[in-house]
Amino acid sequence: MSTSPFVRDLMAEVKAKNPAEPEFHQAVQEVVESLDLVLQRRPEYRSARILERMVEPERVVMFRVPWQDDQGRIQINRGFRVQMNSAIGPYKGGLRFHPSVNLGILKFLAFEQVLKNSLTTLPMGGGKGGSDFDPKGKSDNEVMKFCQSFMTELCRHVGPDTDVPAGDIGVGGREIGFLFGQYKRLRNEFCGVLTGKGLNWGGSLIRPEATGYGAVYLAQEMLATRNETLEGKVCLVSGSGNVAQYTIEKLLQLGARPVTLSDSDGCIYDERGITTEKLQYVMELKNHRRGRIQEYADKYKGVVFTPVDPRADTSPVWAYKAQCAFPSATQNEIGAKDADTLLTNGVYVVSEGANMPTVLEGVHRFLDAKILYAPGKASNAGGVATSGLEMSQNSMRLCWTREEVDQRLHGIMKAIHRNCRETAEAFGTPGNYVNGANIAGFLKVADAMIDQGLV
Ligand code: NAP
Repeated sequence: MSTSPFVRDLMAEVKAKNPAEPEFHQAVQEVVESLDLVLQRRPEYRSARILERMVEPERVVMFRVPWQDDQGRIQINRGFRVQMNSAIGPYKGGLRFHPSVNLGILKFLAFEQVLKNSLTTLPMGGGKGGSDFDPKGKSDNEVMKFCQSFMTELCRHVGPDTDVPAGDIGVGGREIGFLFGQYKRLRNEFCGVLTGKGLNWGGSLIRPEATGYGAVYLAQEMLATRNETLEGKVCLVSGSGNVAQYTIEKLLQLGARPVTLSDSDGCIYDERGITTEKLQYVMELKNHRRGRIQEYADKYKGVVFTPVDPRADTSPVWAYKAQCAFPSATQNEIGAKDADTLLTNGVYVVSEGANMPTVLEGVHRFLDAKILYAPGKASNAGGVATSGLEMSQNSMRLCWTREEVDQRLHGIMKAIHRNCRETAEAFGTPGNYVNGANIAGFLKVADAMIDQGLV
């Protein structure tokens, strides 16, 4: 991999200025390795110090979130919003509620989001936010109280033309509802301040499905370049939340055979395949009962459950023979050894539903093996793209049909695929979707930043 003096100096500066933020360093490193190719051809980006500006958030808001639990005890969490880049539109990106959330993780997600949103073809800048609040094990009433306190501060910094958050890990329809209710109450405005809203109060059809469907559409496009389809392909899927569920739904519609799911406790392997009926069970288990994936193995015969070993540097979900993998849980869930195992076991399509699920070494292994590998900022962009479509519908005060939104989503995923492929080729690295996504995403934002002057 490239280690030009520019990349080395930039990374040294990023690490010195942002200590103890390894995920942010990793996300920037992956991008600057690709951009070395651009900076050699377009020195104006160097002299305008575009990259140095892009790694510095336009604004970071960090705040106290006090709330009272069901026992009347006072709880304190930390809230964040990272407004990374608004060169091509209002800040846009999800909110994550998970105990692991910290500033570095949100900066990595916000940085990725800027390039991802640029790829969607829609006018959206990049941001990300969230809290170290853990919704797991909390009552609906506690989640509501937390969301209301969180939005009481956040409402000063967001708005339909300023910053439009959405969901992410730990933030689904329930949380978006509570957040929206509090915003409306405080501002006395019914507007498109959040996406992922309920269908009868401003949400878009297909938004819940969009990230998973999009990751599968992108895999379909990559396979088409080799005259192949997903029909009959064995697929490993990690996670069991929003992205994983709709990845499986679309895989089933296209005749593929998904065989795994996971959560932070472990993974299930269902050799006979996860069917539509079993997926319904998972949706009920995860979205309503809020149970653990191990229960799937208790319910269905012949299913193997493997618990996560917290000391291991590998994950059991990647240890099965398959052709395709859809990591859909969280960052760095595919380690370097997992990447080797996947390749050894015959996986040659990886479409990332999660953000940065593969460690940098694993990314290099996939690229060296020349498999069909799509980085998250391309393959999971369907979610934010459909959020963009929700914003358009809100502005026009109308609702498109399911078919219309799905068609637009499908069209956007095809356009992202084409753009990444053509850009990779134009910069001398055909088939390298990592370079394609990083460069194509960067060019649009960089040119807009130059047009708008030093701001
Ligand atoms: P979700 O509905 O909350 O589901 C997350 C899933 O991942 C759960 O099964 C969770 O298991 C598992 N998980 C989370 N943290 C984990 C950890 N540290 N170790 C192991 N498993 C973990 O979230 P989601 O919306 O599906 O998001 C999944 C990924 O997709 C994230 O990387 C997110 O940034 C990315 N993404 C989401 C969207 C979207 O539209 N939702 C769009 C683009 C990208 P537990 O229940 O045990 O925690």
